Amino acid sequence: AAKAAGRGKHCFYEPSMHSEAADRQLLENDLRQALDRGEMWVAFQPIVRVASEEISGFECLVRWNHQTRGPISPDKFIPLAEECGMIGRIGEFVLQAAIAEAAGWPDNVRIAVNLSPIQFNDPNIVDAVAALLAEHDFEPARLELEITEGVFLADSDATDGTFARLKSLGVRLALDDFGTGYSSLGYLKKAPFDKIKIDQSFVRGAASTTKRNGAIIRAIVSLAESLDMDTTAEGVETHDDLYLIRELGVSQVQGYIFGKPMKAEEARELANSSRVEAEGFQCIREPRH
Ligand code: C2E
Ligand code: MG
Ligand code: MG
Ligand code: MG
Repeated sequence: AAKAAGRGKHCFYEPSMHSEAADRQLLENDLRQALDRGEMWVAFQPIVRVASEEISGFECLVRWNHQTRGPISPDKFIPLAEECGMIGRIGEFVLQAAIAEAAGWPDNVRIAVNLSPIQFNDPNIVDAVAALLAEHDFEPARLELEITEGVFLADSDATDGTFARLKSLGVRLALDDFGTGYSSLGYLKKAPFDKIKIDQSFVRGAASTTKRNGAIIRAIVSLAESLDMDTTAEGVETHDDLYLIRELGVSQVQGYIFGKPMKAEEARELANSSRVEAEGFQCIREPRH
């Protein structure tokens, strides 16, 4: 590009800017091929009921193992997929893979799948979900769709309609990353969510940092309870945070303390053991001090 621009003009871009844009273009090209090359797979992370310490379900998280660069974070490639028109195909792949896998699990184990706002606002989304459920004879209530506040930035009549149609299919709806978006409370009034996922930024280290995080979590729990919604705390890594989360009345926990996102085979084994024996699963205990 510098050559084409002519001698003396190549300084227009900072070298770092140029390589960043070029790198992005390369990554986008690879992203377009990733599914066909079999580089994407779905990981499953356990979600545990605080009261019984039993597995409630798993969140299904897409993974991309790039052929030369190795694993790339979804925080990097999901936004790219949204911008370059790939998110629909990737989202469909995740839904299909997650439902196909969990169809063979005990039917009290749920799966949660993230829907990008772009996917949610695709007029075909409800039919696509319904078709997958029917194809795998999958009970709709076992599927939870995780949505962020980003969906509400689009056309509101269409959005309301999609919520209503998904609800009438019988799938569950969760509001993801709660507390990080815009005016969350209005959305809670409008949309029929079954669950609020409390964002990691309030959860991680809540026991050891300021009391403010605990106060915010308590308020979210109280709000959710009044609206008859479940709560899941994301990003619980330590015993102390787990203990606090339980004291605050959060109904479910997801975090490294109970398990990182894992391969399907491992998740299947966990799903089949009614009470989990893995490290960390006997551990909601008093803090050590
Ligand atoms: P998310 O939906 O909020 O998913 C939770 C993220 O938190 C996951 O990151 C998970 O691995 C991470 N996490 C869970 N527990 C802990 C913990 O105890 N400590 C720490 N440090 N992290 C924890 P991941 O898999 O990297 O995904 C990042 C984000 O990418 C997701 O956030 C979601 O927004 C998006 N994403 C992932 N898979 C999909 C997908 O299939 N479709 C769409 N549209 N987005 C996806
Ligand atoms: Mg999520
Ligand atoms: Mg989240
Ligand atoms: Mg997130």
